Amino acid sequence: MSNVATNADSKEHGGRQLRFDIISIFPGFFAGILENGVITRAISTGLIDVCIHDLRTFAHDRHRTVDDRPFGGGEGMVLKPEPLAEAIESLGIAPKKDRDTSRETVVLLSAQGRRFTQATAREFSGMARVAMICGRYEGVDERVAETLADRELSIGDYVLSGGELGAAVILDSTMRLLPGVLGNEASSEFESFGRADGLLPTCEEGGPPSCTYGAGGLLDYPHYTRPAEFRGLLVPEVLSGGNHEQIRKWRREQALEKTLCNRPDLLEHAELTPQDKKYLESLKHRF
Ligand code: SAM
Repeated sequence: MSNVATNADSKEHGGRQLRFDIISIFPGFFAGILENGVITRAISTGLIDVCIHDLRTFAHDRHRTVDDRPFGGGEGMVLKPEPLAEAIESLGIAPKKDRDTSRETVVLLSAQGRRFTQATAREFSGMARVAMICGRYEGVDERVAETLADRELSIGDYVLSGGELGAAVILDSTMRLLPGVLGNEASSEFESFGRADGLLPTCEEGGPPSCTYGAGGLLDYPHYTRPAEFRGLLVPEVLSGGNHEQIRKWRREQALEKTLCNRPDLLEHAELTPQDKKYLESLKHRF
């Protein structure tokens, strides 16, 4: 199954298109993912191209076998290296030793991989091609990681039954960072794990806060919409007061509070001002 989309819109955004190749034994898995929301628009406007490849196409026996029993014994089956090698080689991506990994990369989805983060999504969004190998069963013959993939990536500390969900997570979080994909250019910066406010060109000094606030490695602040009262709970007064400076301050404090409460580990690398540090200090007794 392959989705090919080229359109004048990609030219409007610098003519750059990011191509994703996903190799899986369940190509049908991606149908729903590609047919809804932002991703569908990104494909139809030619900003991304997503090609799904059925691994069994690269098996040559009568039963289209892609797995075999593990050497050394034990439970389950392991994906064989030959069909995966053929699949990667069919994509026209350079062999691992000659690959320019700032432009194209081959990822093996694996629970044993390094953790996939927003920083990795940002790195991928600057590339021309990202190919992903989805494991199944007990995993993938280790020689695939050694000779074909540039990196093994995990989407979290849990075990999935296949790499397809991981590939979908990487595809979605990467493509939304491409210029032109989101309606509001700033949306992908003004959110959890986004860059610092100071680095963002759209934030005017003293002007109204654009939809949100540069996160600088923090989690996003809480959002509210109508009605102003819901089951006795009121929207924080500051948000309807019209004082932009106070709104900014409140949002920053809320982001700091949420990060301290839910993900204190992020504070270590967050871009914090002296006021941020003072505010966090004042919260220490609560968490
Ligand atoms: N035996 C493996 C282990 O204990 O690490 C688990 C294999 S898992 C059942 C099958 C496939 O799912 C893996 O080869 C990988 O492609 C995918 N997978 C499982 N957990 C994952 C995770 N956290 N992130 C990314 N891929 C994952």
